[in-house]
Amino acid sequence: MKIFGYHRTGFDGLPIEVEVDVRPGGLPGIDLVGLPGNAVREAKDRVRSAVRNSGYPIPKGRILLNLTPAGIRKDGAGFDLSIALVLIGASVGWFSGSTEKKCMVMAMGELKLDGSVKGIHGVLPAAATARSSGMDLLLVPSENFQEAVSLGYGNVLGIDTLKEGVDAVQQVMKGELPALAIPESRSFLTDPGNEGSVGDFADVKGQAFLKRGMEIAAAGAHHCLVFGVPGTGKTMSALRLGGILPDLSPEEAVEVTKLYSIAGKLGPVPGLIRRPRTRSPHHSSSLQGILGGGPGLIPGEISLAHRGVLVLDEAPEFSHHVLQNLREPMERGEVHIARAGKSVWFPARFQLVMTANPCPCGNLGRKTAVCLCSQEDIARYWRRIGGALLDRIDIRIPVEAEGLEAHMGGKDETSEEIRRRVEAAGDFRLKVRGQTPRNGDLSSTRLTDYGRLNAEAHRLLSAARAKLDLSSRAIHSVLRVSRTIADLKQCREIDAESLAEAVVYRRYGDGNYMWNEP
Ligand SMILES: [Zn+2]
Repeated sequence: MKIFGYHRTGFDGLPIEVEVDVRPGGLPGIDLVGLPGNAVREAKDRVRSAVRNSGYPIPKGRILLNLTPAGIRKDGAGFDLSIALVLIGASVGWFSGSTEKKCMVMAMGELKLDGSVKGIHGVLPAAATARSSGMDLLLVPSENFQEAVSLGYGNVLGIDTLKEGVDAVQQVMKGELPALAIPESRSFLTDPGNEGSVGDFADVKGQAFLKRGMEIAAAGAHHCLVFGVPGTGKTMSALRLGGILPDLSPEEAVEVTKLYSIAGKLGPVPGLIRRPRTRSPHHSSSLQGILGGGPGLIPGEISLAHRGVLVLDEAPEFSHHVLQNLREPMERGEVHIARAGKSVWFPARFQLVMTANPCPCGNLGRKTAVCLCSQEDIARYWRRIGGALLDRIDIRIPVEAEGLEAHMGGKDETSEEIRRRVEAAGDFRLKVRGQTPRNGDLSSTRLTDYGRLNAEAHRLLSAARAKLDLSSRAIHSVLRVSRTIADLKQCREIDAESLAEAVVYRRYGDGNYMWNEP
């Protein structure tokens, strides 16, 4: 009989065996070794009360508890339950030779002094680990039960009290699995609900150029910048990008759901997150809130936007430091957080959408108002985003106010209609190029394999390069975006028309072009 807790560092985790040795006649007390962190050390006293108040004796003598492997510092209140079970097991003889059965139980949960079990974060990754390491039973707080079974792992029991946990372990030792409450629907295909759901593109009137840019961004997972005077639908569109992205693949769904489990952001509905998430943090957010970390070592906004969309509304209002720290995760698709001399990581392959006004007052380019900003004000505003971050933005979309007619007639396309084209482009890419990185993530070497231009497009690119003085990074952006436009048309080769359209979306933002129309 072995009892395990679960320890998580960042996105990864492993089972931690709780071993016990009782020295009868020794000075009474409990020693806890194996690098317990503060919260785990405190568990000792909490657990002792919970065990006694549940009607079980504490073994007499000196008790040594060892958390193994010992090399990792263990933290969090989730170890309470496993430690309590081991203490009880030691006094009722679970670990003595005669009754020893080869079975393994993993237990996670925080205990209250009266022996009731309180919910915790991060149960879903623990369930994945319990399955892969062949646990006979996983005990979780009943309020986390739905989350724990979302992966389809069935040996899970949700409990409300320590006593229920003890009974379950005793059944497992007798070779009977406790009556496991498998959720009726086993509905792993449901989505546990989209917090901050995003509305429909049909709500955005007119703005065909903006919507087309968003469609291309969605089809190729390109980062984008949407800028223009206030009230032109920039933010509305940015928040709706997630609605035209394809569903997550099964692997992506597991990754995203794990991240939400660790962050404690899964609702009571079982299932995996199937739709890409949209996160829209406020510009006053801290670096830690955006990147992740902190005492609980939880994922930040960029990880909650993993395989989805991170909207930075009025991006120049964010701290320069926050913006510049996005570059590395954007390059790697994951974020590394230094912690106590070690580095932990979370997945963070998000699609960035920034919105910005043309100038600090917002009136630049407006016919009915006057901009009072100086050239220096305007340049400083844009420098907050900075050239290095802007370099990674393939699509830049200038937005102007729509005329009245956009609000009067015509029906605007729904997100679902746009999404169908985005999905078709994805299917085409898969058919022609197989499982390859999304176009927005293509490196320059990969680009030469997939970005084949026909002769006319080639001539056009040379001309555009000379005329617009495009940098090599800009050329790569143009090639990536033109590949996506060709995918939307389901063309193997990139034609001149696709290339020309891609150039339009890359013209702005370099060399002060955003605020200095040449
Ligand atoms: Zn202004």
